[in-house]
Amino acid sequence: MVLRKWGLLLSSILLALIFASMAIIPPAPQSGTIAADRFSSARAMTDLRIIAAKPHPTGSDENAKVREYLSMRLDSLGLKVNLGEGELGERALKRLNKWSGENKSEQAIFNVIGILPGTDVSKPAVLLMAHHDTVWDSPGAADDTVGIVSILEIVRALKESGPHERGLIVLFTDGEEVGLSGARHFFSSNPLRDKVGAVINFEARGGGGTANLFQTSKQNGAAMRVFAKAVKQPSASSLSTFVYNVLPNDTDLTPALEGDYTAYNIANIGGAEYYHSPKIEVEALDERTLQHMGSQGLDLTRALLAADTLPDKKPDATFFDVFGLATIIYAPFWGWIFLGLAGLCYGLSLKGEIRTKEILSGAVKMLIFFGLGGGLLYGLNVMSGSGAGANYYDRLAAIRKLEGLAVFFCAAAFFAVFGPKALTVNARLGAALPLFLLGIVGQAFAPTATYFISLPLMLCGFKSLMMQRWPSHIGTKLAVVILTAGVAGYMIALGHLLMLGIGPDLLSVSILPAALAALVILPLYEGVKKKTAYFLAMTALLVSAAIALWVRLDPIAATIPLY
Ligand SMILES: [Zn+2]
Repeated sequence: MVLRKWGLLLSSILLALIFASMAIIPPAPQSGTIAADRFSSARAMTDLRIIAAKPHPTGSDENAKVREYLSMRLDSLGLKVNLGEGELGERALKRLNKWSGENKSEQAIFNVIGILPGTDVSKPAVLLMAHHDTVWDSPGAADDTVGIVSILEIVRALKESGPHERGLIVLFTDGEEVGLSGARHFFSSNPLRDKVGAVINFEARGGGGTANLFQTSKQNGAAMRVFAKAVKQPSASSLSTFVYNVLPNDTDLTPALEGDYTAYNIANIGGAEYYHSPKIEVEALDERTLQHMGSQGLDLTRALLAADTLPDKKPDATFFDVFGLATIIYAPFWGWIFLGLAGLCYGLSLKGEIRTKEILSGAVKMLIFFGLGGGLLYGLNVMSGSGAGANYYDRLAAIRKLEGLAVFFCAAAFFAVFGPKALTVNARLGAALPLFLLGIVGQAFAPTATYFISLPLMLCGFKSLMMQRWPSHIGTKLAVVILTAGVAGYMIALGHLLMLGIGPDLLSVSILPAALAALVILPLYEGVKKKTAYFLAMTALLVSAAIALWVRLDPIAATIPLY
């Protein structure tokens, strides 16, 4: 029996790692020989090699060359091209002068705009946007050439299936890196803005990773249903959109969101050391990232062009992709039902034998795992050099090490708290209680962000019920492996994304997915000898502390920007 349970645990963990890697690793690049109406990263790379050959910040000669190339490319794709000329504002100019060391009193900016009229001019157009300027000294193979060449390849593929009733507008903005200048100029003064109904912006944060839908216009229910239906290799979540909205970040989509457009923002996140880096040359970019951005962008644009009417404002939806395979979407109130079902399943799995002491001990254990774990992670992060005085980009470059730190620490916490003894069904219910509480608070105040608690709790409850009622049924074993792997795999992928997004500042955040992963693993965990558990916990803790010191003491990363 013991062997069998360890077997179930190990196969669940193995499957969880497979699920997680499906979510974390972008899809394979597509060669130039695939069907002409599909997105090919190989075709897009041809443009990328030319555009990202050298740094091309606003106002530079290289930027002028890139603009000329982009005008030529849009023209060759059959679009009507014009330049939207504006001026850098005072703050943006100050930033540019600081970079260049010059003292310019004015600087013109040029958006490159391409128009592909639809057959029905009464229909509002779809606008695809990316910025053509880079930060100082960075060739910008990712930020934002990956967005620019995605759009060029999307337009080419769309023309294969055209003509379309709805028009398409391409906007390559200038001056994004000095303060969203080109986008502000377009959305405040270009008459074309009134022809636009939907906007998709493409951005980059790092040289690799998946491309994720991370921001939408308000009241995204209908807009996200279009995305969920159309996009075949999705990476999206209403947790990301929630987290992004509370962070003080901006992209070219910010000025668009002040208008009344249906809007989507897609950016890759990964290879964080290459964000704004002088080293992000063509060879450093992960081509799979480009494929992922482009294929999602093409699916979404095609769906919007084909839509009879563009999606209007409907109440916000809860949504997330299941390991890059499909997007699940539902109304947020379902979270309450999931929490209710979770409670019901956990309750029924007790079979009427309620042991308060065991429930309490389980609850205390989870609280310690969560509270003390989060606190210690905070301390380890300080030890690793986070906080005032830290170089932002050096911290980004340390994300892989910090992830290792978090993994070892969470393992240490697990063995220290849950290590010595398997939890009874009552104790496991107790361990779920703090997460229930968190789920209820989350569901009340941030319902679209709380699916990652309510849904796993329901699955954990369901699993607990099956294991108690039909312990030896083959269906139970199969379901247990799939449910455990599903929840644990999602938590690994989520932890990775959270680390990339906010990890260097807020390492403690990783305790949240770890707690849910621990909860789903507990029913399969048999316990080890006390001595062994504490030995494992201590060793893992020491390794995590050593990594923290390593991050603190290692030389500053060679990839950091020089400005
Ligand atoms: Zn950018």
